[in-house]
Amino acid sequence: MDQKESHGKTIVIGHIQDGSPVDRCVMEHLSDPCAILIVGASGDLTGRKIIPALFNLYLHSGLPRRFFIVGCARTELGGNGFREKMRYALPFDDEIDETKWRHFSHHLHYRTIDYDDLSSFLKLKQDLERLEIQFKTQGNRLFYLAIPPSLYRQTARMIGTAGLSKEQENGNGWVRIVVEKPFGRDLETAVDLDKSLHEHFREHQIYRIDHYLAKETVQNILMFRFANAIFEPVWNRTYIDHITVMAAEDLGVEHRAGYYEQAGVLRDMFQNHMMQLLALTAMEPPSRFEADRVLDEKVKVYRALRPFPVDDMRGNLVLGQYTSGTIHGMPVPAYREEEDVSPQSFVPTFAMMKIFLDNWRWQGVPFYLTSGKRMAKKLTEIIIQFKEVPHSMFRQILGEHITANRLILGIYPEERITLTFQTKNPGAKVCLRSVTMDFHYDQGVTGPSLDAYEKVLMDCMLGDHMLFWRQDGVELCWSFLTPILRVCEECSAKAGILLPYGAGTWGPEEIEKLK
Ligand code: NDP
Repeated sequence: MDQKESHGKTIVIGHIQDGSPVDRCVMEHLSDPCAILIVGASGDLTGRKIIPALFNLYLHSGLPRRFFIVGCARTELGGNGFREKMRYALPFDDEIDETKWRHFSHHLHYRTIDYDDLSSFLKLKQDLERLEIQFKTQGNRLFYLAIPPSLYRQTARMIGTAGLSKEQENGNGWVRIVVEKPFGRDLETAVDLDKSLHEHFREHQIYRIDHYLAKETVQNILMFRFANAIFEPVWNRTYIDHITVMAAEDLGVEHRAGYYEQAGVLRDMFQNHMMQLLALTAMEPPSRFEADRVLDEKVKVYRALRPFPVDDMRGNLVLGQYTSGTIHGMPVPAYREEEDVSPQSFVPTFAMMKIFLDNWRWQGVPFYLTSGKRMAKKLTEIIIQFKEVPHSMFRQILGEHITANRLILGIYPEERITLTFQTKNPGAKVCLRSVTMDFHYDQGVTGPSLDAYEKVLMDCMLGDHMLFWRQDGVELCWSFLTPILRVCEECSAKAGILLPYGAGTWGPEEIEKLK
C-alpha cells in the first residue's frame, strides 16, 4: 500500500495482481480527527464488535491519525479495567500483535456515567473537552449508542441537554450519533424515537446502523445488477417466476434471550435485514451512486409493498418456534428450554412470508422472505428463479418441463454468484443436464477487505449515509409490519399460527403450502 496526500486527505492506494494501480477500488479517504464515544461500553456489542472493528481499522490505517475512544457505562471499570476487558474480548487471540494493541489502547479511556443523570453527562463533557485538546481532535465527535433500545431516547436527550450534540458554526466540529437496531418496536415507537433524536440532532447527524448492508456481498448486489448490461433486461416479471430471500442461522438465542423474547424473528430480522435485501434486489437503478438517490429508490420499493392480508395469515405467513433437535450432530434444547426464555413463550423464532410489490416491474412475482434460528445451517442467499422456457421444442423427447434458469447470490457462507442453465449431456442420446457458472467473490482479491462493522464505523467517520437507514424507510417498513405483528401477538397461540419445527431442520413443514 502506498499513501499520498491529496487535498489535505490521505489516500491509500492498493494494487491488483497484475501490478496496475486500482486506486478507484481501494481508495479510502481517512476521516477527520475525531473522538469516538461508546455509550454502554461495558456490554456485549462493544467487546465483541465495536472495539475489535476499531482495532482492525487502526491496524489497516483506517482510523484518523488523531483520535481517542471513550467507553461510558454505569459499571465502574476505570481506564485500566476497560482496556483489559477489551483486550480479552478480542476474538483473534492468537494473532494479536501486543505492541500494536498497546499503542491502540493508549487511545482508550473510560468514564462511569448514569444514563439518566445530567450531572454525569456534564462531567463527561468537561473530560471530553480536555481530551480533545490533548488529542487535537478539533471537536469532531461520534457517539455510538451501544445500550438497550429502551435507553436510546433518554440517553440522546442527556447528550443533547449537556450541550454535547451541537455542531460548531464555523464548519469544524461535526457531531454524529449512531443508533443500533431495533429502531422502535412498531410504527408508533419508531416515530417517537425519531422525534426524541431530532430534539437535539439533525437528520444528517443520525446514523441508523444495519451492519448487514456493509457486508461485501450485500454491497455487491447493486454492482452486479447495475454494472452489467445483461441482467437488467430480464430482471422483471416477464422472466422471473419468484424470488427467495433466505437468512437462516444455526445458532439459537445464545446469551440474548432477554432481547429476543421482546423481539422475535419479525422484529429481529424482517424489519431490518430482510427488508434491506428485498430493496436491493427489487429497486430501480438510481441515476447516480449517491446516498440520497440510492435511499430514495429503496423507499420506493417499500412504498410498493402490497398491504399484507392480515385476514389470511395462513396463506401468506408461516411462523415457527424451534423444539429440541440436533445441530451438527449435537443435541440442542427447545427455544422454551433456553436460559431466560419463558417456558410458555409464544415468540416466533422462524418466519416465512410471501409478499408482493405492486409496481410494473414486479406485478405478480412472489417474494418469499425466510429467516429463522436453529435451522439446518447458517445460510444467507437470494435466489432469483427464472421462468421455464415458453415453449419446449424437446417436448417429444424430454417431456414438457425443462428446468428453469436460476441465479443465486450467495451472501453467507459461500460468497459467490451461481447461474444454473441447461446444456446437452454428452453422448448419443438427447439429454439435458443442469450446469452452473460460478463466481467466488474472493477470487483474485489481494487487498484487505473490511468486516461489516469496520465498514459502517468508517462510513460514520467519513459522513457517508449510503449504508444506513433513513427514517422514511424505517417508518414504511414498520407500517407494513406493525399490523402483522399485532395480529400475531394477539392470537398466535389461539389461531395456531405458531408452528413447531425441530432444531436442525428448515422450518415447519407448512412452508410448502405457501409456495
Ligand atoms: P447489553 O445488553 O450488553 O447492554 C449494553 C450495556 O448497557 C450494558 O453493559 C449495561 O451497562 C447497560 N445496560 C444494560 N441493560 C440496562 C438496563 N436495563 N438499564 C440500564 N443500563 C443497562 O447490549 P448489547 O451490547 O448486546 O447491545 C447494545 C445495542 O446494540 C442494543 O440496542 C442491541 O439491540 C444492539 N445490537 C446488539 C447486537 C449484539 O450482537 N450484541 C447486534 C445488533 C444490535 P452498565 O450496566 O455498565 O451501564
